[in-house]
Order: sequence, then structure tokens, then C-alpha cells
Amino acid sequence: METLYITHPSCHLHEMGRWHPESPERLDAINDQLLSSGLASYLLGRKARLATDQDILRVHDAAYLQQLKQQLPKQGYFNIDADTLMNPHTLEAAYAAAGAGLDAVDGVMQEGAAGAFCSVRPPGHHAESNRAMGFCFFNNVAVAAAYAMERYGLSRVLIVDFDVHHGNGTEQIFADDERVLMCSFFQHPFFPGSYQVPVPKNMVNIPVQAYAKSTQVLEAFKQQCMPRIKAFRPEIVFFSAGFDAHREDEMGQLSLVEADYAELTTAVVKACAPSAGQRLVSMLEGGYDASSLGRSVVAHVRAMAGL
Ligand SMILES: [Zn+2]
Repeated sequence: METLYITHPSCHLHEMGRWHPESPERLDAINDQLLSSGLASYLLGRKARLATDQDILRVHDAAYLQQLKQQLPKQGYFNIDADTLMNPHTLEAAYAAAGAGLDAVDGVMQEGAAGAFCSVRPPGHHAESNRAMGFCFFNNVAVAAAYAMERYGLSRVLIVDFDVHHGNGTEQIFADDERVLMCSFFQHPFFPGSYQVPVPKNMVNIPVQAYAKSTQVLEAFKQQCMPRIKAFRPEIVFFSAGFDAHREDEMGQLSLVEADYAELTTAVVKACAPSAGQRLVSMLEGGYDASSLGRSVVAHVRAMAGL
């Protein structure tokens, strides 16, 4: 079966102002590159379902969900913080972004899909169990991972987060949960300033200085993460797929290029193949330079699908 490409029209309607880098046009850039590269014809497109409150509450507090519902504006914006805003469509987009991950899990677990890429926004990895921040409301990858564990009884779930920012929300939600192994590199010191030692036992965190070479970053990931990943023998793999560590992305100061995303993805996919097969779920996080975002997603999805 093909690789799934899951998105939802609502993900275009959430926006936080013309000035904001986390814009609906990001999804257009991805779609354009999937089409122009020819990769789209190998993917099976699907409209995401909306996650239910029950799905969200596996990782978020009820009081927090209630608060978000109360804050949803009927018009204009509601500022949660300086750069995390809600418009009237934000919650539906957030339920769709989280729902895409659930469809992806069902696709790889039940239908034999050869991986799934969720082209969704708002992103999720900064959202903590009771806090929206960093453009994130629901932690999409955490919602999907929690669903995979409950619905399918999985007990070895790998999350690889290669966004330039530390996935503080995912770490907070799964810290010391031995069913989850989270591996990530991120620019440090940098937003959200959440990296602390000692690191929870089930996390492999690789802080990387600004302007580090991509070869150094990949080498550090391979040396520190791959032995843990192989020993863990994951049953499913999630990518918190942010592309803001790209050389052309001015949000961060790292220097990855498309080939680096392909290499990283291939290394993880190969190492996990004996235990996870093609149970690969990738969810869009950051990536704010339209051109490099689209090209990097193509490289990542191609590597994930083995195309
Ligand atoms: Zn980011």
C-alpha cells in the first residue's frame, strides 16, 4: 500500500496575522513541492478526521481544554502569548491536526500503509499538558502516540524530533514513561529554553550550538541515538518533523539541507525496520522558509517511503 498524505482544509483557516511566520502558506509550499517533484502521485491523499475530546484528554488536562474553548474568539484574535494566537478557526484546525495523527496511526497499524505524513498546522511539540505555547495548542504527536498505546496496546513507541527547537511539550508529557523513547537534537541555548539536566531516562537530548555544521549534528545523532533506538526495538516510529533547522530557514541558526533530512530519516527507518516495519508516522512541526520547507518535506517523505 502507498504512503498516506493526510491534511485538512481547516488547517488553512487557522492564522495568527499576516506578520506571523507560522502561516497557512506553509502547507501550500509543501503541496506545491510534492506535486512538482512527482512524489504526490505515489502518495494516497486523505482528509483528516477531527480528534475527539477523549483523544485530546489522553495527554492534556480537562481544565486546559476547557480554557481553550472559552478563549476561542468569535472574530479577530485571542492572544495566549506574544506569538501564540487563536482565531475563530484555531480549535477546529487543532482538532484536525491531532486527528491526522490518529488516522496515520490507524493507517499504519490496520491498513498496512507504508508510512504516513501529516501536513498539518497548528504544530504541536511545544504544547504541554496544560499549556499552549510556541504556536502550539494540542501536542499532535503526543496525542497520536498515546492513542497508539491505548488503542493498539503498543508499549515501545519511538519519537524522533528533529525540529530546531526543543520539543518541551512532548518531553513534559512523556517524561519517565518507559513505553516511550524520545530522541532529539535542537539548537541550544534557544527557545523555549526548556532543556535541563538531568534528562529524564527515556529521553535522548542533543543540545547543539548555533552555527554547528550539519555533519556534526548528524554524527552526534547517530552516535547518541542510534544505539538507544536499536536496543529499544520500537513497534512504531513518530517523527516530530520540523524543518526549521534548514540552512535557509532564518528561524534558527543550524545548517541542515534536504540531503541531511533524507539521511537522518533513512537511518532511523532502517534501524527500526526489523521491529516497526513501515509503521512510520510523521507530523509537521516547524519550518518557516517556504521553499526549503517544501523541498525538505519531499526529501523526508521520499526517504520514509523508500522511494
Ligand atoms: Zn521549531
